[in-house]
Amino acid sequence: MADLTDQMNFRFGNIAALYYEILREKMPRQLDLLDAWFPGLIIKADASDGQTKREAEYQDLECMIHAVRYHGRFYSGESVRVSQITGRLVGTASGNKEKERKNAERIQKHIAECLIRDMTLTPRLKDNTAQMFRCFSAEQEAEMRKRLYQVTTELTSRREAASADERAVEAFPMDDEAFEGTIWNAVYQLNLSAHSGLCNAYLWLLTGSLLRNEIGRVLRMYDSAFIAVHRQESETGELRDKLNYLMHPEEYEYTFNGDEKDLQNRFPDIEWYCDRCGAHLNEQTGFNDYLSRWKCQMCGYENKLDISEIYGNKEDWQNRVRRTDARKFEEALERRRRELGEERRKNTSERFKKGGTEKRTGDTEEDT
Ligand SMILES: [Zn+2]
Repeated sequence: MADLTDQMNFRFGNIAALYYEILREKMPRQLDLLDAWFPGLIIKADASDGQTKREAEYQDLECMIHAVRYHGRFYSGESVRVSQITGRLVGTASGNKEKERKNAERIQKHIAECLIRDMTLTPRLKDNTAQMFRCFSAEQEAEMRKRLYQVTTELTSRREAASADERAVEAFPMDDEAFEGTIWNAVYQLNLSAHSGLCNAYLWLLTGSLLRNEIGRVLRMYDSAFIAVHRQESETGELRDKLNYLMHPEEYEYTFNGDEKDLQNRFPDIEWYCDRCGAHLNEQTGFNDYLSRWKCQMCGYENKLDISEIYGNKEDWQNRVRRTDARKFEEALERRRRELGEERRKNTSERFKKGGTEKRTGDTEEDT
């Protein structure tokens, strides 16, 4: 049985701690920590001379905590309310005030709404994360990448090991969609191996761990408005399999299930989109995938029709990752040709045995 208390929990405080561990810095206190990664979203900095203490307070209507800076840091004072709310958000409080748990939940909902409504918010958060990463040395950046792979693997294993009951009693339980979507997107970004991918991966984990189940709304409503990604391929539908496919595509064979008509195309079942305007090329008059180039009828751009231009999705294409393996592609088509050929021969011989006129009524064959 998984122990949900000792090890890595998918909570904002744990994810944020990775950054400060690598920098060998003390993690800021809760208000400063929340403000560092989500500036202006949770804590509203009230005007202050920087020398006067004024107790922080939670404002119900705004779903925000008002605080002043005292000697450069947010001052929380003795407010039990604020410390309970922020403790719940960060994931460290064991407070017993149900009302403050509800308020933390309202803040999570509020942030999810902001992410959905305000299209400038994600770019700002991305910039902020990139800014935070600027102080990393190359070694620290490599260390961060390694740690994030470990953390996502560990979280996935723990999730698999935990029973449904255990998941349900977590503070802010997450459903599969929210959990898997967050982890998968983080690993996808990590796997791009670009600097921006690392920042985006971390931002996915920070946001997912902060919002918990509320991240599901962000994933659902804006597939590509937050940090783009939409395809999760796998054989079994399990998160582990999806992650494995992402990181070790070489272990997977391609499959093709189309019919003989599809096989008449050079690239069966491949949809082509204009690299400049995004128009769907397959449906343009006269399109033929045996041509080496196709001039888009919408914008005039000349698109190359070649195996090297085929990617699993837009993000893979933009990042030029997981290129299509020409050999596997051909092999999949060849396997299907043989399969269809065998089916055809089988059908012919059975028909012959039955006299050749009667149509099969058996439930195993769909092709006639
Ligand atoms: Zn075009």
